[in-house]
Amino acid sequence: MLQAPPAEPGMREDEVDTPALLIDLDAFEHNLDTMAALLAPTGAKLRAHAKTHKSPVVAKLQMARGAIGQCVQKVAEAEALAWGGVPDVLVTNQVVTPRKLARLAALARICKVGLCVDDAEQIALAEQAAEAAGVRLPVLVEIDVGMGRAGVEHGPPAVALAERIAASRHLIFGGLQAYHGSAQHMRAPEQRMAAIAEAAARSRRTVEQLKQRGLDCPIVGGAGTGTFRHEAASGVYTEIQAGSYAFMDVDYGKNDDAPPFRNALFVLSTVMSRATPGVAVVDCGHKGVAVDSGMPGVWERPGLRYAGASDEHGKILIEDGTAPALGEKLRLVPGHCDPTVDRYDWYVGVRKGRVECLWPIAARGGMA
Ligand code: PLP
Ligand code: MN
Repeated sequence: MLQAPPAEPGMREDEVDTPALLIDLDAFEHNLDTMAALLAPTGAKLRAHAKTHKSPVVAKLQMARGAIGQCVQKVAEAEALAWGGVPDVLVTNQVVTPRKLARLAALARICKVGLCVDDAEQIALAEQAAEAAGVRLPVLVEIDVGMGRAGVEHGPPAVALAERIAASRHLIFGGLQAYHGSAQHMRAPEQRMAAIAEAAARSRRTVEQLKQRGLDCPIVGGAGTGTFRHEAASGVYTEIQAGSYAFMDVDYGKNDDAPPFRNALFVLSTVMSRATPGVAVVDCGHKGVAVDSGMPGVWERPGLRYAGASDEHGKILIEDGTAPALGEKLRLVPGHCDPTVDRYDWYVGVRKGRVECLWPIAARGGMA
């Protein structure tokens, strides 16, 4: 159930109830503009990943700045976007349960919606769902470009799947999914560049072999916030799937050449106990901010260190500088933006200290 929003438009930021998920709108808009400007000369298009933001409102703002569509990881995310009016959605994942496939095929009646496969069995399942719904589904073949997660081997095994899709009356061969996830947070830029050079080489080889078999490859999709400049410059990738760029987080800030985006996402917290000397306890533990990629930062308070997260308590060590008072609000910078967003019902959009808007996080939660 959607909870009551923690704020109202017009409030001062320090009046927002906590914990609350803030978007600094100036920084967020800067990030969207920066991505659009970086991609414009490359010819690669942005299909932003909605696993980060889970919101049709954010999707539409990205598309107003040139994004051609959205990626999602889950059928429930595709539904939230499609029902929110997003016209073009790609599930960058395999979908294998018949109920989910039926839901996905039903969406194809209201928007363009595609999915990825790396096995002939998935193709047969997608085909059945498309036939039953009376739609044609675009299907991309996911190739392993170096991360060893999902993805069929590039080259002939990928071409064989593409031919199987192209031969179906209910499916359309949509192209290649070629995402290299483990390259995103390699700290050294040379390492990231080398990983994407290999990913682009595997993709290029596969596109050439598809062509030899008479198959056009309309999309080569991949890339995240850590590597997108390499994919965009490769000449082979046509769609960039970055997600975190819109918000940033502590983890991306740790790349040696941190991407040129500002921190736009914060969890606003309140100091609720100062009983222990040298410690400020805030009302945001790991149920309020994801710690899978490390602890959150404390925004613009260099003397404070968020050192430990329990369920609903965050322990901040006062290492130097001004100690925060009981009741004081502190902005936390999430270690990892995507799972942090998933913990909230509302974005509280703030600009220059005032609440400007509240956006529901329509696709949050659930496993579907
Ligand atoms: N594309 C795919 C398939 C992903 O799984 C992810 C993230 O894991 C991304 C793109 C976006 O990555 P990021 O949020 O790091 O920009
Ligand atoms: Mn992530």
